[in-house]
Amino acid sequence: MLYICATPIGNLQDISLRALKIFASVDVLLCEDTRTSGILLKAHGVYAKKLVSMHEHNEAEISDKVIAWLQDGLSICQISDAGTPGISDPGARLCQKVLECGFQVSPIPGACAYTALLSVSGLVVSSLFYGFLPNKSVARKKILQQWCEVSYAVCVYEAPHRIVACVTDMLDVFGGEREVIMGRELTKQFETIRKCTLSRLLEFINQDSNQQRGEFVLLICPVVVEKLTEQTFLLPMQVKTLSLLLAELPPKKAIKIAQELVGGDKNLMYKYAIDHKLILD
Ligand code: SAM
Repeated sequence: MLYICATPIGNLQDISLRALKIFASVDVLLCEDTRTSGILLKAHGVYAKKLVSMHEHNEAEISDKVIAWLQDGLSICQISDAGTPGISDPGARLCQKVLECGFQVSPIPGACAYTALLSVSGLVVSSLFYGFLPNKSVARKKILQQWCEVSYAVCVYEAPHRIVACVTDMLDVFGGEREVIMGRELTKQFETIRKCTLSRLLEFINQDSNQQRGEFVLLICPVVVEKLTEQTFLLPMQVKTLSLLLAELPPKKAIKIAQELVGGDKNLMYKYAIDHKLILD
């Protein structure tokens, strides 16, 4: 059995009793940095039988070793430096390989920066987890552009040295009025949670260099519902009904009846009829 186990994202108390029991009982505890995980183990008085470092650069090599250990009947647990493995952290490749080889993988859930911020966001919409955006502005903006008009929130992770550049790009792409929720240093001493528009957030972090320090998770709020429901094109059913009626009736009447039958924006219908030469301008 391979256990994938979440660890705290700041406050060392945010660890489950089950996780601590597993750390002490497994034959091998895989962690990213043995010093970081050593601090967690020490804080809880837990002694691991064997601590092995697995990070993004040796994940493939360690995965092969894990398969051999599992074949020998050993139990393994993987943790990352903070939060849930596989969430912008090593673990996904190991998990894939272990599953492919027919072994079981079991989660020991716990802290994750994304779900921690979402849980206090007050958002009642669905959300999508993206993780780290590209480092370069052009590539970053290209990704951001896909979320210009969405009805769900999007979660991104950001490093302190890129936070100002990232929020600036968001403002360029979405405009200053789009709402965002910033979670900085969650569960730590200087925890800051702020929901505001992008222009307010940029002002806030620019005004105080302390607000540019630490770890950041951002939730980009959906565009306001009224904007989304504003019709920008006609549906196929509306086009078909409108075309049939325009062939038989004067434009004003055809559009009125089409709207009654299948809904749709009157101005869009006029524009469609003119553009497609169904009525004279
Ligand atoms: N696996 C982790 C998880 O479950 O959230 C994420 C690991 S990823 C390498 C590290 C990034 O997660 C940070 O750069 C930051 O964006 C976010 N993060 C981690 N801890 C955080 C915290 N306490 N507050 C805000 N963001 C945090």
